[in-house]
Amino acid sequence: MNDIDRYAVFGHPIKHSKSPRIHHLFAEQTAQNIEYTAQDVPAEQFQFAITRFFSEGGKGLNCTLPLKELAWDFADHKTGRAELSKAVNTLALQPDGSILGDNTDGHGLVTDLITNHAISLTGIRILILGAGGASRGIIAPLLEHGSKTVVIANRTVDKAIKLAAEFQGKGLITGCGFEDLKNQEFDLILNATSASLSGQLPPLPSGLLSEGGNCYDLAYGNEPTAFVRWGMANHAQKSLDGLGMLVEQAAEAFFIWRGVHPKTSIVIELLDSERH
Ligand code: NAP
Repeated sequence: MNDIDRYAVFGHPIKHSKSPRIHHLFAEQTAQNIEYTAQDVPAEQFQFAITRFFSEGGKGLNCTLPLKELAWDFADHKTGRAELSKAVNTLALQPDGSILGDNTDGHGLVTDLITNHAISLTGIRILILGAGGASRGIIAPLLEHGSKTVVIANRTVDKAIKLAAEFQGKGLITGCGFEDLKNQEFDLILNATSASLSGQLPPLPSGLLSEGGNCYDLAYGNEPTAFVRWGMANHAQKSLDGLGMLVEQAAEAFFIWRGVHPKTSIVIELLDSERH
């Protein structure tokens, strides 16, 4: 009898995913007997791959680019935060055989900001660059943690305006283009564009970051991203990348599956030390 519970991450590309490493470190730390693999699954093979995974006894799945919306469609039922974000990064087999969809990205980000970096969100002015899936997942948690205003700026302006409209009523939130940011100032700037992945940066006016303000790139790499470097050049108090968010969103998924909270700080420190 195979008593190892099986988990996996699906995505495309997936070769460089740190998720198997992170979940195996969590499992070792909390004495959980699990297997966690990374599988390259292009969108057109998603339905086949996910059906096979659960029919062969898989217990839970993470989904990353470009599969989060497809995972949202696949889930039999969803948590409130997954409903709001219209994207699912964590699927969990339930005792009745149904599949629950959740989105732990927003939780991962606010935990990294508040708990790991002591950046308070209360009463601050936040700018989110980008209006894709990641932005959608982080807006509600940012508003819930008491931010004063949230502005979403995007290359395709329409998308930012529509996304902001979806969250009206949950806080003061507006959408605009990058050129509309002139003469505005923010206490926290979050880069949720995928521009960093190709070493690019959205066009940002000077004077955008308040004195003592912070920058955070959801993307991460072995070297500081273009946006992390922009934050440093613009005198951010802290200019961080998304490694901590990655580990924190994984820890929340691990909790959903296994019912135990792994210690994240030692995992973040280990992964961070390996890239220097
Ligand atoms: P997505 O849905 O594909 O959205 C990409 C966004 O980036 C869009 O708003 C797009 O603008 C914008 N963009 C792309 N290239 C750009 C450029 N050259 N200049 C300006 N804007 C550009 O991607 P996503 O899922 O939201 O992911 C965004 C980033 O978050 C990625 O780097 C991803 O790795 C990161 N992420 C990190 C974590 C973590 O745990 N650390 C979790 C989730 C996501 P248009 O709408 O105009 O195309």
